[in-house]
Amino acid sequence: MEIGETYTVRPDESALIKLFQMLLEEKVVDSVLGFDIKKKRYDLSPKAIENPKELTLLPLSQYLAYNYARINSSSKFVHTKMNPRNKKIALIARPCDTRAFIELSKFNQLKLDNLFIICTNCTGSISAADVQKGIENLKLDPENVEAEELGINSIKILIAGKIQEIKFSDSIKRWDNCSRCHKREGSICDIQVDFYLDGTKKVITLTIISEKGKEILEKAVSSKKIQLDKTTAAVKKRKELMEKIVAQATEYREKSIADFQNLSDEEKFAKIAKEFIEPCRVCGQCINACPVCYCPTCDVMRRRKEKEAGFDGRLYLLTKMAHMGDICIGCGKCTVACPAKIQSAFFYDVLTDYVKQAFGYEPGRSAEEIYPRTMKAIKKSR
Ligand code: SF4
Ligand code: SF4
Ligand code: SF4
Repeated sequence: MEIGETYTVRPDESALIKLFQMLLEEKVVDSVLGFDIKKKRYDLSPKAIENPKELTLLPLSQYLAYNYARINSSSKFVHTKMNPRNKKIALIARPCDTRAFIELSKFNQLKLDNLFIICTNCTGSISAADVQKGIENLKLDPENVEAEELGINSIKILIAGKIQEIKFSDSIKRWDNCSRCHKREGSICDIQVDFYLDGTKKVITLTIISEKGKEILEKAVSSKKIQLDKTTAAVKKRKELMEKIVAQATEYREKSIADFQNLSDEEKFAKIAKEFIEPCRVCGQCINACPVCYCPTCDVMRRRKEKEAGFDGRLYLLTKMAHMGDICIGCGKCTVACPAKIQSAFFYDVLTDYVKQAFGYEPGRSAEEIYPRTMKAIKKSR
């Protein structure tokens, strides 16, 4: 086996479960970030698992299409619930999660060496509720879905042994943030995972990215935990799809930011006030969802909870922005979590673009990049 090679996995997700179980049994890691399904197959929650026998679920297709439900994400859960400063953890993550891990490591919130990351080659996330409505419109039962795959402008559904395609429309489409996301591969990753539908056949591929990934896969194959077949056909097909998605997202992102930049200062302020600040209900969900909001005692949340006089949407959002503006890794969870449907992630995109122009810094790109608000960075710039 070599770094860079891609393999199809046999027979299905159960092989990945065995791989994770092996990591626990052989004490390569202390825990695995697993999945729990609450009510419906769409409703995924993260779960820390230390006993290999408890590792029974790996709903890859749902995770890739919908992500964890509500405010949950791999990076937030690992950081807040799994003690990644001291414990070794294996997980499946999205590229934005890997960017969050990089930023969190710069604030001593975790050790990157403690993470064994199987990262998705991300086609984005879509609202599970919207897709369920789309399936119902086809007079089909969403509970009978067997798998899904997000494409460029549609989602393919495998249901009752047949493929149905739901085209994106105003009511069914990727999260707006994912439509703008142009960084679809993990910034750090040991093994890359892909899932797609080849006709009605579910295909999982793994690509070896790091030495650690290579070592683990070799061990899993030799102990017959997982069966792999080398493939090049799957790689080509997937690469073409990802190139198209990234090109589409880059164009949309650049246009959205340019449309904002082309406004006059007065128009910019009016837009920020009308679409960002005024609708804010100061509910705190965007902070709860943010994977890089890391302070254990948050003054913004305290003032919100204590209903401090005068602490309104302006103070809440501008304080948060002052903290997050140069470490936002663009996961979009703040927008998804917001009951007022405020497009916070877009305004953060505008801000991180300014930061990139001013300091050359891109949050989550590399663990070696020095965070601009440190003495080290200031001295370096002198
Ligand atoms: S923000 Fe980017 S990496 Fe994260 S889920 Fe969306 S498309 Fe994937
Ligand atoms: S501010 Fe929003 S988009 Fe940025 S990292 Fe936090 S939740 Fe994600
Ligand atoms: S989630 Fe939305 S409404 Fe709630 S505090 Fe954040 S921006 Fe305001």
